[in-house]
Amino acid sequence: MDETSYTVVNKYYPENIGTLTWRERPTFVKFQCMHCNDPSCVSACIVGALTKERNGAVIYDAKKCIGCRYCMIACPFQVPAYEYKKALAPEVRKCTFCFEYVEDGGLPACAQVCPREVMTFGKKKDLLKLAEWKMKNNPGKYVDHIYGEKEVGGTSWLYLASEPFETIGFPKLSHDAPPRLTEKIQHSLFQYFAAPIILYTFLGGVMMATGFMKNGKKKTEDIASERGDNHESS
Ligand code: SF4
Ligand code: SF4
Repeated sequence: MDETSYTVVNKYYPENIGTLTWRERPTFVKFQCMHCNDPSCVSACIVGALTKERNGAVIYDAKKCIGCRYCMIACPFQVPAYEYKKALAPEVRKCTFCFEYVEDGGLPACAQVCPREVMTFGKKKDLLKLAEWKMKNNPGKYVDHIYGEKEVGGTSWLYLASEPFETIGFPKLSHDAPPRLTEKIQHSLFQYFAAPIILYTFLGGVMMATGFMKNGKKKTEDIASERGDNHESS
């Protein structure tokens, strides 16, 4: 994927390429933004230019973007691409899940045009049931793994494959959503910051109180000397 290709189809050959028959086709895999359930890109974007929508899409608002590219670093699938070649107003580019079509009750364009109906669009719970049904009723056709069901906390794209996923370009990822991990780290840091903050607050309080007392004492002395009722001089 790059700033002009939001979706790509890669071709993976099995290891025994020299002995392939016409039936032993390579595996084709479509990649695009996974529209993660708990997206790292959204979590990393400090200005809210990326948002997770109710229909599952993770979309981008160029008007809010400041071009920091944190989203590119945060994405575990290396999806967001930047328009480096655009000197004026470069934007972050990635698949939008055809947000507007889906909002209007349509399908994402890829699911609509695919002549082999490789993609099925629907509610996640129905798709998971369908994936399990396919695996059960086609023994030996699929590896026993629905990619995207649990990876990084789950994604809006779910894959079935006949080859182990790590051999066809899918990264092996934890089931924890990265934003949950970074939040834990932030919370721990804040926890350890608590002691210095309490100390600084205490010291600040002492300084204010001392300053106040000094000022207070000075004011009392000034008033006393004006009145001429300073006990030491009387
Ligand atoms: S795949 Fe990357 S860009 Fe797409 S939603 Fe997940 S973290 Fe964001
Ligand atoms: S480049 Fe834009 S969208 Fe990406 S994290 Fe920065 S502000 Fe957000």
